[in-house]
Amino acid sequence: MTFEKTVQIFKDDIIKSTQELVQIKSVKTPAVGDMPFGKGIQDALEYTLSLGKSLGFKTKNVDNHAGYIEFGEGKEMVGILCHLDVVPEGDHWTYAPFSATIADDKIYGRGAIDDKGPVIASLYAMKSLKDIGIVPKKRIRLILGTDEESGGKCMAYYLKHEEVPTVSFSPDADFPVIHGEMGIVVFKLEKTFTDKCDDGGIKVLSVKGGNAPNMVPDYAEVRLIENHPIEAILKAFNATNGTQIEYIKEDTFTTLKSHGVSAHGSTPEKGKNAISALIQFLDLVDLEIGDQSNFIRFLSRTIGSETNGESFGIGLKDEYNELVFNLGLIDIDENQGSITVNARYPITIKEKLVRAGVEGTLQNTGIEITKWAGKEPLFFKPNHPLVKTLMKVYREHTGDLDSKPITIGGGTYARSMPNSVAFGALFPGKADTMHQRDEHIEIRDLLKITEIYASALYELLNL
Ligand SMILES: [Zn+2]
Repeated sequence: MTFEKTVQIFKDDIIKSTQELVQIKSVKTPAVGDMPFGKGIQDALEYTLSLGKSLGFKTKNVDNHAGYIEFGEGKEMVGILCHLDVVPEGDHWTYAPFSATIADDKIYGRGAIDDKGPVIASLYAMKSLKDIGIVPKKRIRLILGTDEESGGKCMAYYLKHEEVPTVSFSPDADFPVIHGEMGIVVFKLEKTFTDKCDDGGIKVLSVKGGNAPNMVPDYAEVRLIENHPIEAILKAFNATNGTQIEYIKEDTFTTLKSHGVSAHGSTPEKGKNAISALIQFLDLVDLEIGDQSNFIRFLSRTIGSETNGESFGIGLKDEYNELVFNLGLIDIDENQGSITVNARYPITIKEKLVRAGVEGTLQNTGIEITKWAGKEPLFFKPNHPLVKTLMKVYREHTGDLDSKPITIGGGTYARSMPNSVAFGALFPGKADTMHQRDEHIEIRDLLKITEIYASALYELLNL
């Protein structure tokens, strides 16, 4: 079933509502009164719920933490999972970021594609079904999250207090269907240095680098006392490895500044890890013997510049992906050392296997795991009815018969709800402006996704 004509009837309303929602600056701010995520997010929630009500649907505000708009009756429920909060606008926009200016058939503004355009498209998809007289035998529930960008407290609250849909999709990523999202672990390794000896080697005072576990560090530095000259070795190292480590001689010590290229932790191969470069260099020189240098050499030999965790004992693979390893943070001084790693493991593999690999590698090193946090993978087989149905709808509407369901290293909003997959709203090959300046949604895409979501709901009702 196609909904082209029905959606055309609502064209102006879809555009206007998207603009109005984008114009609400729903960036998270400190709680005020009973608004846990601040006034902007509250306004966006109230706006959307009242729009849902005006279109003839049942609505509920879930204690200002989330909301939903519901259509139909029945025991089973088809969910659509969207969010109303946005990341801060940043600088250098062509059009004011909350103006929702229309230019070249695009609506510009923070949240236009992530995720406010898709919210409005989903709502008018429901309206399209309603207006052609469909009486659903399942409920359709558009779930409105309010804290996707900075912590996900909204869905934690929702899951505690409200019903989980039988199946759902989340229009907060890319088309076609994302049937697998890799598991994620973030772990911290620490070692206290007790064994030191003043053997005349190079004395490392500190090594610091990185901003967050899920970012490839673009900067790291070491301070050391250069008991042996290292400048020439460094020059040769940079020349051989294409690294950029600066040598700065100060009064009583030397600083080495390593410059890399940042990238998201899910795609470390796109960056250049500044910490990796530095530890590999330190492994080459004559460091003072002891726990500290053992720690540095251990890192160099088990991580080096690898981004698949192989030498670290967790080079795990399945038919879809291989493990992605990002050394995100380092902090070493004369008394202790620590690193923090963000690793993404293949969708059919269990977290305990990753843990076992790490523990195996740490055996007899005295290095301890002091933090470990994990998120299991999201995985639906490509022939799962939910995946098959959404793929079929996508193909019918786009004529894109070659695309297959995809797997990704990043985590989408779909993972915050059981039985859910990400489905759109960005089409393959279109510029991804989420979280960027000049974020926008093309108006023809906005209408197209409304049709796709209407068809998807229609099909899922009959599943
Ligand atoms: Zn989003």
